[in-house]
Amino acid sequence: MTMETKKHAKNTAASKKEKSIGLDVAFPQKTCNEEKCPFHGNLKVHGRVFVGTVIKDVFHKTATIEFPRQFYVQKYERYEKRRTRIKAHVPGCIGVMKGDLLMIAETRPLSKTKNFVAVEVIKQ
Ligand SMILES: [Zn+2]
Repeated sequence: MTMETKKHAKNTAASKKEKSIGLDVAFPQKTCNEEKCPFHGNLKVHGRVFVGTVIKDVFHKTATIEFPRQFYVQKYERYEKRRTRIKAHVPGCIGVMKGDLLMIAETRPLSKTKNFVAVEVIKQ
């Protein structure tokens, strides 16, 4: 009985076309017909989520984001600043510019250097 109701709920969600990707993000205004899109394609997001600044011009649907982190140095018992840079795929429905604050989510390997996909522009 519970199995049947679950199945039914899944079907109605798919028919609405606005599927949830499992994260609390806004559905993009624009639409696209890309395979590598968590909203309109077959891409599934799982794992880590990061927020960072786009530091390079978005080219070939790739955004590079950067965010600071603290690294503990045992010898001096202090923290030093380090930076993390991650490349993420940008589907056609998400408009990203250099300098934006972007949220990315982990997904399957999309290319040699991309394991993440952009899910929402937080601040432009
Ligand atoms: Zn899309």
